[in-house]
Amino acid sequence: MTAVIAPIAPSPETLSRTRERFAALLGADAVLNADTGLGVFHDPFEGPQAQGHQPSLAIQPATVEQVQEALRLARELGIHVWTSSMGRNFGYGGSAPVVDGGVVLNLRRMNRILDIDERNGFAAIEPGVTFADLYAALRKDDIPLMMSVPDLGWGSMTANALEHGIGYNVLGDHASALCGLEVVLPDGSLLHTGQGGIPDSPLWHCHRRGFGPAVDDLFKQSNLGIVTKAGVQLMPRPEVIMTGTIRCEGKEDVGPLLDMVRRLLQAGVLQGVPMLVSSPPSATGDGGGAFTAENLRKVLRPGRWNLRFGLYGHEALVASRRAILEAEVAKIPGAVLEARTYAGDSGPDEVEPRDLIAAGIPNQVLLERLTGVFGKNFGHMDFSPVLPFDAAYAHRTESLLGETMARFGLIGAFGLLCFPRSMVSASLIMFDASDQARVDAARVAVRHLCDEVAGWGCAPYRAHVALVDHVQDKFAYNDGAMARFYTRLKDALDPAGMLAPGNHGIWASGQRPDGG
Ligand SMILES: Cc1cc2nc3c(=O)[nH]c(=O)nc-3n(C[C@H](O)[C@H](O)[C@H](O)COP(=O)(O)OP(=O)(O)OC[C@H]3O[C@@H](n4cnc5c(N)ncnc54)[C@H](O)[C@@H]3O)c2cc1C
Repeated sequence: MTAVIAPIAPSPETLSRTRERFAALLGADAVLNADTGLGVFHDPFEGPQAQGHQPSLAIQPATVEQVQEALRLARELGIHVWTSSMGRNFGYGGSAPVVDGGVVLNLRRMNRILDIDERNGFAAIEPGVTFADLYAALRKDDIPLMMSVPDLGWGSMTANALEHGIGYNVLGDHASALCGLEVVLPDGSLLHTGQGGIPDSPLWHCHRRGFGPAVDDLFKQSNLGIVTKAGVQLMPRPEVIMTGTIRCEGKEDVGPLLDMVRRLLQAGVLQGVPMLVSSPPSATGDGGGAFTAENLRKVLRPGRWNLRFGLYGHEALVASRRAILEAEVAKIPGAVLEARTYAGDSGPDEVEPRDLIAAGIPNQVLLERLTGVFGKNFGHMDFSPVLPFDAAYAHRTESLLGETMARFGLIGAFGLLCFPRSMVSASLIMFDASDQARVDAARVAVRHLCDEVAGWGCAPYRAHVALVDHVQDKFAYNDGAMARFYTRLKDALDPAGMLAPGNHGIWASGQRPDGG
């Protein structure tokens, strides 16, 4: 029976041996320590006296074969490896491992765009390809395909999708846009999922399933393998993009507004992932220094409620959708619709900064704005529960967030991402990352928020590494049957618990430090 690797940081001797062996395997410049660039693989918002979740080394393999060999070596050495692609999972811990002292296996060097298939509408990419990289490649050759982007364009397209990341246009549910993965399993062996199981399949990135259970989702929010190649589906570049906002000024207006959004999403009139932002005029709160309610209002959109939406496609289709939307908005007293229309091939210079995301153009506007207002020590932690599509939950979550921020001396922005049958709250809890007390308060506050929404039968879709067990424990049906099932999978594929132990609360048997 394979011994489980203890969930503790490696000793200095083990670390020194690990560094030498990885340098021999990958080359000295592919092994980073504190003096040679490890800093960017910490949680950027961990605070100056951070405890726990510290990476001990980072390694940067450049090929699939090197990833395979690195995992075999990690098993031999008995050390933990934590997967990171670009390593910019900011708000959720960056590249910081759950278990202290993990070796970050970072895939920035694997940054090739392997294929862009215009006819079938997909790209095959390595995990080091960012949203900005793929966009540049599409623009360079004027390929008429459009991508969905999250708020920041510097992340890995693969990792963001594996994390169930969310963008805002038609393919905004990024995990669903993945089709066909290449995965290195913890024993170093290689798997092609779906149609990729057939040697030289022409359909790997075109058709989701193969024969038997589809396993792609086992590698999302997971520690059962490292994805080294992914198919990402793209949409045909639309003739026209129309984007804009619907504003309402009354607190209770969110009821009819959300009701309309739900109906129009289910009916296919609204497209993508509309985002609702709340801006309560009476918001108070003080997170110290620049983290004031007044500054918070500077980064929020105008209106008590402000919904961003996008419409895409042939001109006549967009016009029809717009007409239906306008008629529906007219039924909501006081609601104001503002929209701007762009040609589908508009570039970054032709689209207003506020519309870049809806137009599928990667950018860093939001982060620049936040650091511009709050300063270079801007830090945040995200609270992202999945909620029933009902205005009552918008009110409840907004109140809960406000009370919690006041109690813990923090400030937070409240938004909702709208899917046809559910909402995801995008609550950005902001603090001065150079102030350890505020960093610690943010973690306690988010923990408290998770406990509160658990009372409603809800939980976050994604969580900071410091809180993953806490969130996994909310999935408690049948005495934690889900977590036990994950452990059985982990034991089968990685009995030593070498790969990313504890990621999303998934552990090998007997490995969870608190015993589960
Ligand atoms: C201001 C701001 C706005 C943001 N807005 C959004 C937004 O709109 N939408 C959104 O989704 N996120 C958002 N984020 C969060 C985050 O920045 C993005 O999700 C980002 O894309 C994640 O970083 P990354 O792509 O570098 O992933 P990484 O940090 O590289 O990876 C994230 C995680 O994915 C897993 N993983 C990574 N690579 C692999 C692999 N090859 N195989 C298996 N598992 C892997 C690991 O568990 C890893 O911890 C925002 C953050 C900030 C600061």
